[in-house]
Amino acid sequence: MKSWSCIEKCGACCRFDLTEREDLSKVLNNNDIALINSMTSKDGWCKYLDKSNKKCMIYESRPHFCRVNEFSKFFKGYLKTGDKFLIDCCKQHISSIYGSKSKEMKMFKISVSKK
Ligand code: SF4
Ligand code: SF4
Repeated sequence: MKSWSCIEKCGACCRFDLTEREDLSKVLNNNDIALINSMTSKDGWCKYLDKSNKKCMIYESRPHFCRVNEFSKFFKGYLKTGDKFLIDCCKQHISSIYGSKSKEMKMFKISVSKK
């Protein structure tokens, strides 16, 4: 079975639009939502993402909802199907941000197929 892992130079999940993320809104509390709003730039990207290399500038102290291994257990889909759920989530993010034929999608597919 394929295992999920994050890839470098992606950051697709660091762009927030809670109106399109019903799944997220259900598991976040008001403090989380306020924090997301404070982190989000006008263009929708997290202000802590270094766009030149797509790296998180506060990686060690990033919020709990950015820690996939911890946060995923709040989703029924993850409890049911494990890494398949995470892989599908990443594909959705990558596809909506960069496109289904993007280099980020190719890199992600290669990464998860190696596991
Ligand atoms: S969308 Fe997935 S692969 Fe891309 S940065 Fe987020 S967790 Fe990593
Ligand atoms: S804090 Fe870091 S991991 Fe979380 S959304 Fe912002 S850039 Fe991405």
